[in-house]
Amino acid sequence: MKIGIFGGTFNPIHYGHLRAAEEVRERFELTKIIFIPSKNPPLKTQDLLDSVHRYKMTELALSENSFFEISDIEFKRQGKSYSVQTLEELRSIFHGTTLYFILGIDAFLEIPTWWQAERLISLVDFIVISRPSFRFADLLSSPYISASKNDLEKLDKAELELYITTLKGNRSIIAFRIPLIDISATEIRRRVREGKSIKYLLPESVESYIISNRLYKS
Ligand code: ATP
Repeated sequence: MKIGIFGGTFNPIHYGHLRAAEEVRERFELTKIIFIPSKNPPLKTQDLLDSVHRYKMTELALSENSFFEISDIEFKRQGKSYSVQTLEELRSIFHGTTLYFILGIDAFLEIPTWWQAERLISLVDFIVISRPSFRFADLLSSPYISASKNDLEKLDKAELELYITTLKGNRSIIAFRIPLIDISATEIRRRVREGKSIKYLLPESVESYIISNRLYKS
């Protein structure tokens, strides 16, 4: 069994997240992908909507894909939601299963600022996916990765589909190029604030939830 772990604030979840997860699931033949909305993220606190709404929207968005699951693992813990604790818990739940932590390039580059970062990168394998405005060659600035600049640049030029190397601590990291979908939660929140349409950027059920609960208005 191979399981993908996709964490995020999902503020709100959108087609950029969903399509990226589907690309990964299909290419690596994952049994399922578990989406983990962060209850109390230590770093991403700006414009952060109440976790109950973010959880509900994620749940609505995932209902149409039987390979996607939501986890309330971070809702059962008190205090800040640290990824290292989440991954440790998941490792003990899914003992003997290969777990892949799925992240965009932007998020992977932020890991050094996370709690117990070096421990975190030794817990599971990683799949790092394309994200608009970021290049795979940017991964060379990460203190955890030793990689061929040439190969990362080939990913950026679409001459390679994926590139596998190891992280400090010996876990593997797969840099995986996916079609770019230039949607961000920040842009969606801005559009709602400005009274603009968010149609086709996220599932209709999530759009209706945002509208009927008057979220992101102020
Ligand atoms: P915000 O705009 O609020 O910062 P975000 O979408 O960047 O939102 P998260 O919801 O925390 O933030 O993202 C969860 C994960 O999804 C991260 O690993 C991020 O890199 C990835 N991700 C977000 N949007 C995309 C996208 N359009 N394409 C690929 N990956 C994405």
